[in-house]
Amino acid sequence: MNILTNADLHCHSDVSDGTLTPEALAARAKANGVELWALTDHDELGGQARAIAAAAELGLPYLTGTEISVTFAGLTVHVVGLGIDPDNAQLRAGLATTRGGRESRAREMAKQLAAVGIKGAFEGALQYVGNPDLISRTHFARFLVESQVCSSTHEVFRHYLTEGKPGFVPHRWAGLGEAVSWITGSGGLAILAHPARYRVTPTEEYALFSEFKAHGGQGVEVVTGSHSAAEYVKYAEMAQEFELYASRGSDFHSPEESHTDLGALPDLPGALRPVWEALSHRVIRPH
Ligand code: AMP
Ligand code: MN
Ligand code: MN
Ligand code: MN
Repeated sequence: MNILTNADLHCHSDVSDGTLTPEALAARAKANGVELWALTDHDELGGQARAIAAAAELGLPYLTGTEISVTFAGLTVHVVGLGIDPDNAQLRAGLATTRGGRESRAREMAKQLAAVGIKGAFEGALQYVGNPDLISRTHFARFLVESQVCSSTHEVFRHYLTEGKPGFVPHRWAGLGEAVSWITGSGGLAILAHPARYRVTPTEEYALFSEFKAHGGQGVEVVTGSHSAAEYVKYAEMAQEFELYASRGSDFHSPEESHTDLGALPDLPGALRPVWEALSHRVIRPH
């Protein structure tokens, strides 16, 4: 596999906040020409066995994955783990702790929404939840669209559920060092997800990259559904400056909501080292 491999190493199933099953995602990835796929549900490994089986059935090379929610300097950032061992006890325990507290957070979110006149949001969001351990803001966003408070999930996040807006409840996720060590301790590679999404100053961003690297982080998403073309260039430079492997993933959640489909991203910029170069020993190849 070379830099031009159509790798899509970031997406979500209904085991977290996507709308498709792991099997439907595998079929969609294959149909869209993906040559190396990873399912990276938020704080969860529950879809991995199904993704592995579905990919094998389709003859699609697969990397195990997850996307861990992290609190760093008061900010929420995401760390993708690829090539992890889904049976590793420390990783499983860490993710279970990270998932904990989502229900009470969701009840608080619903209380805030009720205070601005939006009733029944907890029960409403629950209708969209595939995994009761993983109620997320995305499920609330779907309820707010369904109940015609907003016209799209993107509009929801502009008016609700984000810092300073109704329905935002701060939450303490995993530590940066913890998340990286759970991933690397289970044989995986830790990748800083969609760095352009974080609202940070250049100084804070430098600190994030430095600390991520110091904890043993080895990769960064350069080409993702969350980045613009200018951001591909910026984070290609950051990958080189910090000597990080570059990753590529759509962050696909749903045919209705996601701008970027599985397998539909541009190639990684040429001079980079792709993460799949460092992970070839972890790729599950069809027989
Ligand atoms: P949570 O883990 O409950 O905080 O939910 C985070 C999820 O909400 C992310 O993984 C995205 O799927 C979604 N999300 C967050 N911010 C936005 C945004 N501005 N636009 C669209 N989706 C968003
Ligand atoms: Mn999500
Ligand atoms: Mn993310
Ligand atoms: Mn994601």
